[in-house]
Amino acid sequence: MKPEDLLIPRREGLYCPPGDFFIDPVRGVDRALITHGHADHARAGHGHVLATAETLDIMAIRYGADHAGATQPAGLGEVIRIGDVTVTFHPAGHVLGSAQIAVEREGMRIVASGDYKPRPDPTCATFEPVACDVFITEATFALPVFRHPIAADEIGRLLRSVSRNPERAHLVGVYSLGKAQRVIRLIRDAGYHQPLYIHGALQKLCDYYESQGIGLGDLRPATVAAGAKGDFAGAIVLGPPSAFGEKWARRFPDPLVSFASGWMQVRARARQRGVELPLVISDHADWDELAETIKTVAPGEVWVTHGREEALVRWCAMQGIPARPLHLVGYEDEGD
Ligand SMILES: [Zn+2]
Repeated sequence: MKPEDLLIPRREGLYCPPGDFFIDPVRGVDRALITHGHADHARAGHGHVLATAETLDIMAIRYGADHAGATQPAGLGEVIRIGDVTVTFHPAGHVLGSAQIAVEREGMRIVASGDYKPRPDPTCATFEPVACDVFITEATFALPVFRHPIAADEIGRLLRSVSRNPERAHLVGVYSLGKAQRVIRLIRDAGYHQPLYIHGALQKLCDYYESQGIGLGDLRPATVAAGAKGDFAGAIVLGPPSAFGEKWARRFPDPLVSFASGWMQVRARARQRGVELPLVISDHADWDELAETIKTVAPGEVWVTHGREEALVRWCAMQGIPARPLHLVGYEDEGD
């Protein structure tokens, strides 16, 4: 059997003919296996969804309990048979509930890793390398210029700025799933235990992380009702970056705009967005981590998707590992 008989790219996403399912389809299909809850991977409108319990919870929070005809939770490591193939889910270290999906038939195993990061993250299970014939890797930050610093050091820069600017409100842009909770947890781990103020768009997912045992400390709504303008002086306010252009952002005293994203390594992007304090914190593997992961997994072949495919394909070729780009469309991660 060729790997292409087990998984092939189609318009809807990666398709498995012998199991008749798609992985992270970008449009509604009969049977979908979902790696994680980010909007470009997890969409509403499938007939049947197989995902980790956390990913199913997150989809229900975002799309409503009726987002799919039926759902089935996959335990990590649980062997699930679908048609002529078996599938298993393994931690991807990207956001809470995120998983790599291993698809196996007649001794051939392909691992679709979705989005992943190998470095430890207190808000989700750590990435586990899974031996396989074909490793499908993301390539969001697959250029040698992308080297993410230690996240705790970036949080240190934020907290130093807060203590140096006690009259200003720090507005920290964070995507609502994963990044928000990780940044909050990192702030707590750095010893900051004052209230943190959050935009309404973050509330439900922060509550969900709390319910899963990830303590986020004293979170308060960043609303006018919560206090007069002056009350936010010296405060840290977290919200989705999209809210920073809205009236919501103007209620804070002399706001100092920050943004936590892997893209903040690109100075031009930070300037473009008017970000005064860029924090390079990413939930994706950086260049070194992509290379290290591929060396550790040691697959027979690598398929590269969503991002800068060409650079990673070239790197694999230099290592003597057969590799090719998948050219899947529709993935623009909301949680970089
Ligand atoms: Zn993602």
